[in-house]
Amino acid sequence: MTTRVFKTRFAPSPTGLLHLGNVRTALFNHLLARRHNGVLLLRLEDTDAMRGHEKYAIALMHDLRWLGLQWDEGPEVGGDAGPYEQSRRGEIYQRYFAVLSDKQLAYPCFCTEHELSIARKTALAAGRPPRYSGKCRALTPEDVRERFAKGIPATLRFRVPESRTITFDDKVRGPQSFATDDIGDFVIRRSDGTPAFFFCNAVDDAEMGVTLVVRGEDHLANTPRQLMLFEALGLLAPEYAHIALVVGADGAPLSKRTGSQSVQEMRETGYLPDALNNYLARLGHSYEENAFMNTQMLGERFDVTRLHRAPARFDAAQLLHWQREAVLHVSADVLWNWMSEDVHRLVPAARRDAFIECVRGNVVFPADAVHWAKNLFADQAVVTRDARETIQSAGATFFAQAVDALGKHGVEFKPLSDALKKTSGRSGKALFQPLRAALTGELDGPEMAKVLPLLGVERARQRLEQYAS
Ligand code: GLU
Repeated sequence: MTTRVFKTRFAPSPTGLLHLGNVRTALFNHLLARRHNGVLLLRLEDTDAMRGHEKYAIALMHDLRWLGLQWDEGPEVGGDAGPYEQSRRGEIYQRYFAVLSDKQLAYPCFCTEHELSIARKTALAAGRPPRYSGKCRALTPEDVRERFAKGIPATLRFRVPESRTITFDDKVRGPQSFATDDIGDFVIRRSDGTPAFFFCNAVDDAEMGVTLVVRGEDHLANTPRQLMLFEALGLLAPEYAHIALVVGADGAPLSKRTGSQSVQEMRETGYLPDALNNYLARLGHSYEENAFMNTQMLGERFDVTRLHRAPARFDAAQLLHWQREAVLHVSADVLWNWMSEDVHRLVPAARRDAFIECVRGNVVFPADAVHWAKNLFADQAVVTRDARETIQSAGATFFAQAVDALGKHGVEFKPLSDALKKTSGRSGKALFQPLRAALTGELDGPEMAKVLPLLGVERARQRLEQYAS
């Protein structure tokens, strides 16, 4: 027996931009594929006749690539099981509809929406599950021919086997079991000829050789139906892992108000891909280590048994934590490109690396880098109120002594501050704070030992001298 290639997939419906919730599903699938030396497949589920599909498909592929979640098989990449856009797979679905119809495992249903809605309401009022009654199951071939001849529109329903239990072992939620008698015969092709979402979804997973489906638990109820379809069609079913949805701090599904943003918005704000990946890989999944990891390491250590059942709660503070970590870890080249044009204009090319190493720990978003570039390379620093007060209380003599120390020791902070400690009699905060305030206009910021060489002797002298008299 040949072993199947481990294959996960991300199967978005391109009806909007990727956001934190659905991109996490893409990330989990990507990391699992890496972990098992397998394949990540991308499939665009664009069968619904909605506008804007193409635009959203392009945007989501861009977002995935920006995050480093390149798929191995799918649109723009190719593979043996294409096409990978459901809108181009109509013939395949029709072939499977024919198989089911020929085997009498699906039948045309002529019930109108109106009839179905009344039946649903009546069932609910009587305390019964609102499943399809099976009215058109018993139509004879003549009845069917007659109705078709009259041009009555029909859906195609799958004939659910009676009195059976469908079971499967969900990789996150454990053993699952569904009684077929609770599931009414369901529509697999609408009356306009278009296939139902979960029909194409199942057929494609099997046709494309997917071995593990990781998706939101909102799809759990589709799974027994899809398993019945696999059985009826003689197709190999994948395994399933239904992950808990991402919720806001209030426990309700993540919304704009509770912090959900599109990946595009986050990129524009200045979030780094590594920040999103480190955060999302820990949202509903835990690692043994809590250290920052690149995507390869996140993949090597990703474990399906460490996915949580409880809803994953979005935490803005955690996201910021990983953003800080990402800024600390990415290469100087990446960080420089991430900083804006303003920084590129203010910071001389020869000082680029020193600037980056100086401000890395004090920068979370590109705007912070602009702030420090202005602060360190403009003639005048913008002085905060607190800094001004500190400067005033230190007094002119202190700054005269500082100018003197600078004259003797240049921009080497250690000897300069040692000398100033002696002449001023100050130490600790009382020494460093007024010095920092005068040199940078702030009471907090990057290490002085890195700030001073960037300012250079001339600018440092200028800034100290203005307070020395
Ligand atoms: N197109 C479906 C969605 O975006 C995919 C569901 C699945 O992963 O099976 O929700």
